[in-house]
Amino acid sequence: MEDYTSRGEFALIDFIRRCAASAEAVQAGIGDDCAVLSAPTGPVVVTTDMIVEGVHFRKEDPLRQVGWKAACVSFSDVAAMGLSPSALVCAAALPDDFSMEQAEEIFLGLNQACAEFVVGMIGGDTTSSRGPLSLCTTVLGYASAEFKPILRSGAQVGDTVLVTGSLGGSILGKHLTFVPRVDEALVLNSGFDVHAMIDISDGLAADLNHILEESKAGAIIEADRIPIADAAHELSKRTGKTALQHALTDGEDFELLFTMAPDEAERLMRGQNFREPVSAVGRITESGLFIEQAGQRRPLKPEGYEHFKGMGGKKK
Ligand code: ADP
Ligand code: MG
Repeated sequence: MEDYTSRGEFALIDFIRRCAASAEAVQAGIGDDCAVLSAPTGPVVVTTDMIVEGVHFRKEDPLRQVGWKAACVSFSDVAAMGLSPSALVCAAALPDDFSMEQAEEIFLGLNQACAEFVVGMIGGDTTSSRGPLSLCTTVLGYASAEFKPILRSGAQVGDTVLVTGSLGGSILGKHLTFVPRVDEALVLNSGFDVHAMIDISDGLAADLNHILEESKAGAIIEADRIPIADAAHELSKRTGKTALQHALTDGEDFELLFTMAPDEAERLMRGQNFREPVSAVGRITESGLFIEQAGQRRPLKPEGYEHFKGMGGKKK
């Protein structure tokens, strides 16, 4: 089969340009030396992520899902700031034996994610590679008077710790197909006083620890309140680890982990109408990270999951 380089980089860029999602802020997208965006009236958030074959996905994974994931990991970071993503650029290193169809699949996946969340796909860079497929996405979002960025550093002693959705076992599929919690983030940011927020990319224990470090605080998690995903139970049959361990330490669930005052948390829990329920899993304390189960309290190590270790990859 003809590889994508035989028709030149520009045939591919042409394809990307024809399918590129647009968004309100985009004055000029793909096709010039820079994209042109309208100036924001408030702060801008910017994030970048790289996903690499063998580390964040496998060679045999569907390329459309790989493209989706590349966009959505960055959308999830913007959601973790309580904001919605506005525009995306993607730098792609494509193996030089890729067919045009394979290259297109990636951009269809990227673009599908952009269209779904009304994000402008406004540019990028394309190079061929003798190494593995890697995709680097940079996404920006606009803050405003109504939607201020929510940082990791705002957790306060006494806060309730909450999480969206369910956790663990994402490697069985969710890590490629997850829906970044943009809608939930906007509801939280506009309707509630969220003190601190992060998205779960490294695992509940590790990402909670990131909040604790930035907020100079501690936390106690209640094991029985952790929403354990079906996939965590499924995976535990193969690994010998408990489903709870998977829920605590698996990465790439891309759920939101956040803290708010107890009365705010109760108001949220009473009125919640998210796609998937929110769970209150613990509380912020002065220091340390502990887990309670059956009346016993023990230290919780902030370990993250080594996603593709033993599957041909390295720790991310
Ligand atoms: P330059 O040489 O000025 O960097 P390029 O030839 O790399 O220009 O790109 C031409 C146009 O195509 C630019 O607008 C660029 O943003 C866009 N583009 C290139 N690669 C990608 C990609 N992977 N995804 C989206 N847009 C791309
Ligand atoms: Mg370029």
